[in-house]
Amino acid sequence: MSLTPRQLFVTTALPYANAPFHVGHMMEYIQADIWVRFQRMRGHTVHFVCADDAHGAPIMIAAEKAGKTPQQFVADIAADRKQYLDGFHIGFDHWHSTDAPENHQLAKEIYIALREAGFISTKSVEQFFDPVKGMFLPDRYVKGECPKCSAKDQYGDSCEACGAVYSPTELMNPYSTLTGATPVLKSSEHYFFKLSDPRCVEFLQSWSNSGHLQTEVLNKIKEWFNTDESGKTGLSDWDISRDAPYFGIEIPDAPGKYFYVWLDAPIGYLASLSAHFKHIGQDMNAFLADPATEQIHFIGKDITYFHTLFWPAMLKFSGRKVPDKIFVHGFITLGGDKMSKSRGTGISPLKYLSLGLNAEWLRYYLAAKLNSRVEDVEFTPDDFVARVNSDLVGKYINIASRAAGFLSKRFGGKLSGDLGVEGRTLLDTLRAHRATIEALYEEREFGKAQREIMLLADRVNEYVDQHKPWELAKLEGQEAVLHDVCSVCLEAFRLLTIYLKPVLPTLAAQVEAFMNLPPLRFDDAQRAMGPHVISEYKHLMQRVDPKSVEALLAQPAPAVTAPQEAPAPGGEALAPTIGIDDFTKIDLRIAKIVDCSLVEGSSKLLRLTLDVGEVDEQGQPKTRNVFSGIQSAYQPSDLIGKLTVMVANLAPRKMKFGLSEGMVLAASHADEKAQPGLYILSPWPGAQPGMRVS
Ligand SMILES: [Zn+2]
Repeated sequence: MSLTPRQLFVTTALPYANAPFHVGHMMEYIQADIWVRFQRMRGHTVHFVCADDAHGAPIMIAAEKAGKTPQQFVADIAADRKQYLDGFHIGFDHWHSTDAPENHQLAKEIYIALREAGFISTKSVEQFFDPVKGMFLPDRYVKGECPKCSAKDQYGDSCEACGAVYSPTELMNPYSTLTGATPVLKSSEHYFFKLSDPRCVEFLQSWSNSGHLQTEVLNKIKEWFNTDESGKTGLSDWDISRDAPYFGIEIPDAPGKYFYVWLDAPIGYLASLSAHFKHIGQDMNAFLADPATEQIHFIGKDITYFHTLFWPAMLKFSGRKVPDKIFVHGFITLGGDKMSKSRGTGISPLKYLSLGLNAEWLRYYLAAKLNSRVEDVEFTPDDFVARVNSDLVGKYINIASRAAGFLSKRFGGKLSGDLGVEGRTLLDTLRAHRATIEALYEEREFGKAQREIMLLADRVNEYVDQHKPWELAKLEGQEAVLHDVCSVCLEAFRLLTIYLKPVLPTLAAQVEAFMNLPPLRFDDAQRAMGPHVISEYKHLMQRVDPKSVEALLAQPAPAVTAPQEAPAPGGEALAPTIGIDDFTKIDLRIAKIVDCSLVEGSSKLLRLTLDVGEVDEQGQPKTRNVFSGIQSAYQPSDLIGKLTVMVANLAPRKMKFGLSEGMVLAASHADEKAQPGLYILSPWPGAQPGMRVS
């Protein structure tokens, strides 16, 4: 079966260059890397690139805090990337930066093309301005009270307490999180990309319905097209400019105005490809103009909007190739929570490596859990250990370790040419599944592919158990049978290695070395190895020690850091001063913890049943259900029967595990990594459930 070679341009989302990678990045890169390696193993050409997303106010502000120029700050982050990418065997062809000259040039070219086609307009926009800092404030740097529920310290776009969505100018008592100053409203001219243009709406509706997207993503997009009473749909124009001071790309013919970071970020895909093509001496424009070229972006679900509306429209109306596929994935979660460094939860990729955990264990585990849908992937320590030890080592590696020793010791490593009827039937079965496994990789159904491969490994192990090479080795006159059986095992192991190679590239390279084979491709599954001499078998992969997984997830020891400036109490500056009226809005009550239990599927939460002295209409005692993220500090039995303090008038919050009707108070240091520990409050003896705390 010969395939027409495909030419693919594949990217992962550009990580924001204000922090090191977290495990969520690694999951996306591993997913894309598996797909890319699979394509290459079928003989297709892939250009696989990424870059740091370098611009925007958060980086400008973080650089200033760190006493660096934004360029230096971003360069330091970029220098840190390699150890992660190499460590997890991610094979990008090129890693670039959106602050590189290629990106400045491409962003300006695309903008000018859009302007000439009539897609740029300007409008005066009123926005919060920090008078102390002398800059307009992005939404995330404005906090205040929620206009709906009056919850304190809510961000400028939405309320974490009641879920309300609003604009920053609706916040009550707003303040700048940069200086604490009260921001003032100020207007300025902004540049807009006219998504509302009928040409744009028409194009996006047709593009999104043309097979470029997963069904779930397409359904989401339909919500974003606003439909008015007459049934006409439209989109809002997109604000693409920011005022100086801003770290970014200056807009042509607009002094003091910069492209909003989200305009030039995806252009970084092209800038990175352009730099890569310079290295390999190829013409990017010719490559992208070729109708056979496929452009594919792997992204997380949180940035779907930018990649399915803005990005294709920018490309289309600047006269460029539009994406062929957007592959959207979910988050990696631990105990139901999204893992991200900012919240101090989850798996640190570098800690994983420094504990000596094998990168290909994680690659295999994620592959076994990933599918083509926009679903979250839950990391479960026990499941991780089981899949690596029982499946990967127990089923697959074991095949080689059970047969290779006999071949080396008894037959000089030479494989037998005759495999016997049963052996040939087994190997034919393994080969017959190649098409299914390839189709599953192609569709990003990696979990199904791994299941299929492990079922084949089961068949091989059944064959081994039936023929018992360890017994044949002790019998006289069974030399030839032993030789055939072990040769069948090694050929089966080679076939399984081909199928697993996109996931386990380093292990496959070790197998190729020990079996004296050229780099394996999918085609090689059809051809028998034939008479062949293998080298001495050395153990290929260890089992996971569950203790090292425990260590991975354990809280780190307090870090000893050099004193810098005067430390803030508890690791964070005091919130702005409030009046007594603000305080009395919070109704704090003594609560008795009448019951407490673990929450199935969460390693962080405890479920508390609280008595705050309330009764229902029948006069029966009524309790409240509250979820609290204190499992790291307390066992349920520590808490049952104890008194604590709760916020009794907090709007109920719907969580994955049920409704949470309030919040218990606990103390912790702002930097829970540097100073771990969580302490719930408890009143002095004598306090009764329901008493108000003031
Ligand atoms: Zn609210």
